[in-house]
Amino acid sequence: MKLAGRVALITGAGSGLGEAAAYELARHGAKIAALGRSEDDVENVVQQITDRGGEAIVVKADISQADQMQQAIETITQKWGRLDIVFANAGINGVWAPLEELDPDEWDQTLNINLKGTYLTVKYAVPYLKKQGGSVIITSSVNGTRMFSNTGATAYACSKAGQVAFAKMIAVELGPAKVRVNVICPGAIETNIDANTEKQHIEEVKIPVEFPEGEIPLTHGQPGTSEQVAKLVLFLASDDASHISGTEVWIDGAQSLLQG
Ligand code: NAD
Repeated sequence: MKLAGRVALITGAGSGLGEAAAYELARHGAKIAALGRSEDDVENVVQQITDRGGEAIVVKADISQADQMQQAIETITQKWGRLDIVFANAGINGVWAPLEELDPDEWDQTLNINLKGTYLTVKYAVPYLKKQGGSVIITSSVNGTRMFSNTGATAYACSKAGQVAFAKMIAVELGPAKVRVNVICPGAIETNIDANTEKQHIEEVKIPVEFPEGEIPLTHGQPGTSEQVAKLVLFLASDDASHISGTEVWIDGAQSLLQG
């Protein structure tokens, strides 16, 4: 029970990394505000947590919309009177395409959800985090931080690189208020993220890179699991990480060192 009495907001809590983190943090006593674009997206997760004796609520918002995120934070703090942990995790792969074919509105959509959405999620939480201190964990990626070989994923990689700069800036700004800010950079993790990827003619710009057999050294090529990532989120959210702020942690079985 590392998080007893704490309140955690998790964006994109309805699936993948967000869902696994919701269960892990709830198992350690946190009350979970499970944020999704629709109620349907997160209802099942909230039900599973409450069935296991935990506390959780559904919060509906599009993270790229300022008014909706402001309202989401109000809902949480009115319900529980505090906010200690923010897992800014929701995101999309968006359109992966050669640069000439990547339309400005496709660029905007990826940046608006992944980067502006992260900013809005944290911005409206800050007044409450500052009251007692807290932990922000942002889901970036190996793409844009240590891996640049996914040709076509330009908007995605830029949004993920931007999240790291954002985290480092606010780690310094919020340090005096005892708010820690860290970034997790997953490699290939088995989730439904590919359903949110629109690949357009990327074979035209793909550089043929030949990987040695087993492109993830630690696992002979097997992707990681959401549960493995959730354990890292728990660590960073808890007081076990009390002197860790402003840093990335890659969770990729050394994949990005091979494919940089
Ligand atoms: P996922 O598609 O299962 O989860 C993403 C969640 O974000 C979904 O529940 C989706 O509904 C939600 N979401 C998307 N846009 C939203 C919006 N505008 N407002 C609110 N919610 C929104 O995939 P995942 O793999 O769990 O992805 C989680 C994060 O992990 C993403 O930021 C992704 O970029 C990052 N990531 C994933 C991998 C991987 O291999 N799975 C690797 C690196 C980084």
